[in-house]
Amino acid sequence: MVRALNFSAGPAALPLPVLERAQQEFVNFKGTGMSIMEMSHRGKHYDAVHSEAKQRLKQLMNVPDTHEILFLQGGASMQFSMVPLNFLKEGSTAGYILTGSWSEKALQEAERIGKTFIVASSKESKYRSIPSKSDWKDDSGLSYLHITSNNTIYGTQWHEFPETNAPLVADMSSDILSRPLDISKFALLYAGAQKNLGPSGVTVVIAHKEWTASHSNSLSKFLDYNTHLKTDSLYNTPPTFSIYMLGLVLEWAEEQGGTDGLATLNKEKAELLYDCIENSGGFYRGHAEKGSESHMNVTFNLPDQELEKDFLGKAANEGFIGLNGHRSIGGCRASIYNAVPLEAVEKLADFMKVYRKNHPSRSFSFQ
Ligand SMILES: *Cc1c(COP(=O)(O)O)cnc(C)c1O
Repeated sequence: MVRALNFSAGPAALPLPVLERAQQEFVNFKGTGMSIMEMSHRGKHYDAVHSEAKQRLKQLMNVPDTHEILFLQGGASMQFSMVPLNFLKEGSTAGYILTGSWSEKALQEAERIGKTFIVASSKESKYRSIPSKSDWKDDSGLSYLHITSNNTIYGTQWHEFPETNAPLVADMSSDILSRPLDISKFALLYAGAQKNLGPSGVTVVIAHKEWTASHSNSLSKFLDYNTHLKTDSLYNTPPTFSIYMLGLVLEWAEEQGGTDGLATLNKEKAELLYDCIENSGGFYRGHAEKGSESHMNVTFNLPDQELEKDFLGKAANEGFIGLNGHRSIGGCRASIYNAVPLEAVEKLADFMKVYRKNHPSRSFSFQ
């Protein structure tokens, strides 16, 4: 079997050992004669899967006892609604920092619920960077401040998190578990699993318990974080198979040296591609500005669209999957999440170098 060179943005590559383990256990989980998918979510086998996944994540991400881990459904997109439904009360204002399409979507949901304020935005410079603190507007008195830690579509990432007096809420869908993190800085963070944690279907939320308990959503019990806090994410049937897979991915992450080991590897992978872009004599141009480059999604352009199309076509012929940029901005994007092996990234860098060599007379003439 030849594994694809998978650079998809999400759902994305999963570690091969995880898939193989799931395959082994698929039909007969721990000698029960059943798949994990066929069992009660209140039974002892699933219970162990559920609590082990939570415990592993707590350890890997160094989650302090002030915070609780939730396994929800609905993707990051449902969190765009749940956050303002719970924390944006009448008479208060929620702050948003716009760094790409996903933060815009998060803002749009909050606008439906209450008053919002854009504290900073890099939209005018085509989301090439993360706004620096000196460009922020006044962030005092906000009910919370929402940021997107990694911008999957534009390929930028916060490399340091800002000091703010507002409770900090972060969408970490595309870089959770990719590096060490000080969870105590965040009131709440969330991530759909399908980029860095496992298959789609489960959304991880890490919430400050007291802050969350001091708010509620009177409209819907299900969309109230406290419902899930009080029931250990077992208020209703959780996405059992996705949580099982998450647990396997977390076990694999431990074997990679946890977030420290993963961060080192991710940096090495990202540098391979950024170096290749930088040393291409202007043939490839990165979208992100220096200092804001994502270690998860490397976005770049070629001198013109025709050449981009040719590049993507040739790359596809060589077995590279998912290198086209998001449909909203075009160009090229290599998503190199935790599970994308170094060897795949090396192959891509080699391919890019050869392709550049084969087009010696071309260089950039950007507007
Ligand atoms: C993919 C993505 C989303 C959307 O996630 P869903 O789980 O599909 O709702 C939101 N935010 C970011 C940063 C993403 O990368």
